[in-house]
Amino acid sequence: MGTPRETRQAQAETVVDRLEAEYPDSTISLRYSNRLELLIAVILSAQCTDERVNTETKHLFEKYDGPEDYANAEQDELAEDLNSITYYNNKAKYIRSACETILEDHDGEVPDTMDELTELSGVGRKTANVVLQHGHDVVEGIVVDTHVQRLSQRLGLTEEERPERIEEVLMGIVPEGYWQQFTHLCIDHGRAVCTARNPDCGDCVLADICPSEKGDSEIDLASGEPW
Ligand code: SF4
Repeated sequence: MGTPRETRQAQAETVVDRLEAEYPDSTISLRYSNRLELLIAVILSAQCTDERVNTETKHLFEKYDGPEDYANAEQDELAEDLNSITYYNNKAKYIRSACETILEDHDGEVPDTMDELTELSGVGRKTANVVLQHGHDVVEGIVVDTHVQRLSQRLGLTEEERPERIEEVLMGIVPEGYWQQFTHLCIDHGRAVCTARNPDCGDCVLADICPSEKGDSEIDLASGEPW
């Protein structure tokens, strides 16, 4: 078991420093060329891999151009165009409805506030944070996905379970200038080393400060279960 820094702030700062050195080019992996494409890609990425979304959006973004195209699309046709994505039927409904709202209430533009974004169908705080950060350069919070959740718990940054609560805790300890990058660093490390099922603690740059480190710790602090 590693020895965490004395405070959670210090722990968070060390995590950021180490992961930044490890993944200097860390950034969003969804592909998009405008705000609407970003919004759609993020809606599609819920419980689906970014890789799968990128494959599907390649032809989707060629066929549909602008909120009118999605809002006027037939439900069955749009769903069929998304059929390799998890929950494609629901996601097609969300996208059509969100685009209707964008046309009716926002002059066809993707809104730039948390309140307006989360009023769109299929858009929760996590999706809104991604769109604000990457579409509007507005950083209001920290995107908490499954990797951020797992790593934050394993590293002893939080004991909270719900993403909204985890985000609040992280906003109190991660330096504000790193709120956006923290997510990408956790995602890169979560994919490369600290995977859900079999983290490679022996090859981890955080091992000496990680209270879940498999060498000594018997417990995975993310699941609360023995390794
Ligand atoms: S790979 Fe192991 S040591 Fe590294 S952060 Fe994950 S649980 Fe901790």
